[in-house]
Amino acid sequence: MLGQLIYDRLEDAATHSLPGPGVTRLFLSDEHRAVTPLIRDWMTKAGLTSEIDAAGNIVGRDQKALDGAPTLIMGSHQDTVVSGGKYDGMLGVALSIAVIEQLNKSGIDLPFGIEIVAFGDEEGTRFQSTLVGSRALAGKHDPKSLEATDDKGISVADALRAFGCRPEDIAGLKRDKANVLGFIETHIEQGPVLEKRDLPVGVVTALTGIERHRIRIQGKASHAGTTPMNDRHDALVAAADVIHQVEGICSMTDGMVGVVGKIEVSPNAVNVIPDHVDLTIELRAPERIVRVNGRGQILSALPNIATNRRVEISADLTYEAEGVPCANWIMDGLGQAIGEQGIEPFRLFSGAGHDGLAMHDLCDIGMLFVRCRDGLSHHPDEAVTPEDIDVAARVLIDFLQMVGPIKGISGT
Ligand SMILES: [Zn+2]
Repeated sequence: MLGQLIYDRLEDAATHSLPGPGVTRLFLSDEHRAVTPLIRDWMTKAGLTSEIDAAGNIVGRDQKALDGAPTLIMGSHQDTVVSGGKYDGMLGVALSIAVIEQLNKSGIDLPFGIEIVAFGDEEGTRFQSTLVGSRALAGKHDPKSLEATDDKGISVADALRAFGCRPEDIAGLKRDKANVLGFIETHIEQGPVLEKRDLPVGVVTALTGIERHRIRIQGKASHAGTTPMNDRHDALVAAADVIHQVEGICSMTDGMVGVVGKIEVSPNAVNVIPDHVDLTIELRAPERIVRVNGRGQILSALPNIATNRRVEISADLTYEAEGVPCANWIMDGLGQAIGEQGIEPFRLFSGAGHDGLAMHDLCDIGMLFVRCRDGLSHHPDEAVTPEDIDVAARVLIDFLQMVGPIKGISGT
């Protein structure tokens, strides 16, 4: 079973980790270096010619890709969070490679080139930067991102050089848009939706858009024992109302989630009425209109809260990243391939970011999600079954054979 082979390879890859619970393999670390020959060996077995590029990506290409034919890019990231799991990222690397190996063994010759990338950094765990590798392919490399440092003060640029890469060559990694058919990533779902629906795989519709706000609430500090309840300007009580609004509006809005994840209270004393609260609101939705409407509802509730609680509330948008839609032809093709396995071609959006956010600047993107136990990720207990991996592999094998006809590429 192909799923078992991939599962076993993921066990091998997971041995390249810092000691401690789960898998810890950071960008440009010794563990990254150690896992590289393993991935390159898988690539060789799949008939791909591999290299480490200037951004620390491990890249494998088949002969057609090397010859400059229109090329489909597949893959995922090799890095993990601290004490992460065996599957987030590496599943999409091992699976994409094994699928090509299987097609070769079956004597199936795709009429386009294949390039598989194990991106160096997606998690952004080591440096305060992320997607260096996928941004480079997309031609959106920002040289400033190389100045980011890890907690030892080592910059991305220095770490790249120590890894044997030439950061000055990263700009040259830009792929030719006209030549790239698309980017397909297989990834664990990192949520419980597929498990709840008893489905091994699902088609991703979009990568979520994200926005963050900073909310400042100004009340008045006074003695907690002597100020009557009806004469208070309690900033924390107002913050509670804001939190309830966010939770309530997000709960009632399909396709949007939100959280107040950070709150600072001042003076934060047991016997003083809080006079100031800073809190954050984060909203995520794949569709911009849903997110903007949700934002509007939340922000328009703030003046009422301020009046009722006799405080001042201000809000600033501090971060906004647009969501990225997956291409219809990829969603339809993956859906058809899933249907051919006798499985419902269920669609869901990704509430997490992925390399597709960057790759969308280059080409059409699509993602196949694989069920993970308890929806758990970024955790040592992250788990996927060989059977589900096998379904994903068969779906991808079917899908790859559809790409030629869909894109009007024939012959070899
Ligand atoms: Zn991931």
